[in-house]
Amino acid sequence: MTATEMLPRRFTVTSTRRDTRDTHTLELAALDGKPLAFAPGQFTMLLAFGVGEVPISISGDPARPEVLQHTIRDVGSVSHALATAPPGAVLGVRGAFGTGWGVEDGRGGDLVLVAGGIGLAPLRPAILRAAAARDGFGRVLLLYGARSPEEILYAAEHRAWADAHGIDVQVTVDNGPHAWRGRVGLVTQLVERAEFDARNALALVCGPEVMMRHTARALVDRGVPPERVRLSMERNMECGVGLCGHCQLRELFCCLDGPVLGYDRLAPLMARAEL
Ligand SMILES: Cc1cc2nc3c(=O)[nH]c(=O)nc-3n(C[C@H](O)[C@H](O)[C@H](O)COP(=O)(O)OP(=O)(O)OC[C@H]3O[C@@H](n4cnc5c(N)ncnc54)[C@H](O)[C@@H]3O)c2cc1C
Repeated sequence: MTATEMLPRRFTVTSTRRDTRDTHTLELAALDGKPLAFAPGQFTMLLAFGVGEVPISISGDPARPEVLQHTIRDVGSVSHALATAPPGAVLGVRGAFGTGWGVEDGRGGDLVLVAGGIGLAPLRPAILRAAAARDGFGRVLLLYGARSPEEILYAAEHRAWADAHGIDVQVTVDNGPHAWRGRVGLVTQLVERAEFDARNALALVCGPEVMMRHTARALVDRGVPPERVRLSMERNMECGVGLCGHCQLRELFCCLDGPVLGYDRLAPLMARAEL
């Protein structure tokens, strides 16, 4: 740990976009002008001055480190202050912290990204990284489940990912109104039916813990090796650098060893309900 890891840098909000009823995407620029390089899957500790600091994954393009993007769901006091910060507001940023998805490890095989709800935000940099190096992968699939059509994130980008980069984007919702012409059902059903070469696939999964547990099992049942199934774990975090212990999962510190971890390491821990 270095002193600079504990000291927030000041960023200004340059633009905001409302994605869904309770979710907003913020673009930030560093007041010192220095870009924030990051690997897809990493997070920052984002500080609303006078309110508090929480971990938020970076949802932007790793090829554009001068623009820091965060997609934030308003669930409590700190996330509310962050999600509703207007253009011009100044926020504190520490990081980037944690392990990344390791998208490059999927080169030469199929890449399967499975997201639930706002879990698409931490996967977006991985999608953009794969899109930029599309020739290096076999099939690239995005299997995405949202509660309802109104909660689908980045809907406007899905077509570009499919048309411009040959990504097989499949979306399903838990509940669809009459007018909804898309799929209804759980994202695990997409995993069971999707076409990919499981033995040579790398699978990246992000969503609520129960969704990740079922998805990881479905992927392993299809034949993806457990160490090639990677999940991003959400735990309460305060320091982000392995000091406070709030995010400890038995011997693992989610902020340092994760948030992205292989299912081979997580399966025994996830099977224990109390962890
Ligand atoms: C590595 C990592 C990446 C994350 N990335 C994002 C992201 O990209 N976008 C986003 O909107 N959120 C993300 N989160 C979750 C975010 O940190 C929490 O929503 C936030 O800490 C809630 O704080 P609060 O003060 O607003 O709400 P609180 O009042 O503290 O909590 C409101 C509700 O959220 C739950 N909660 C609190 N903290 C967490 C947490 N860390 N994980 C899960 N549930 C929590 C509480 O149990 C409670 O039910 C991430 C969390 C981690 C650990």
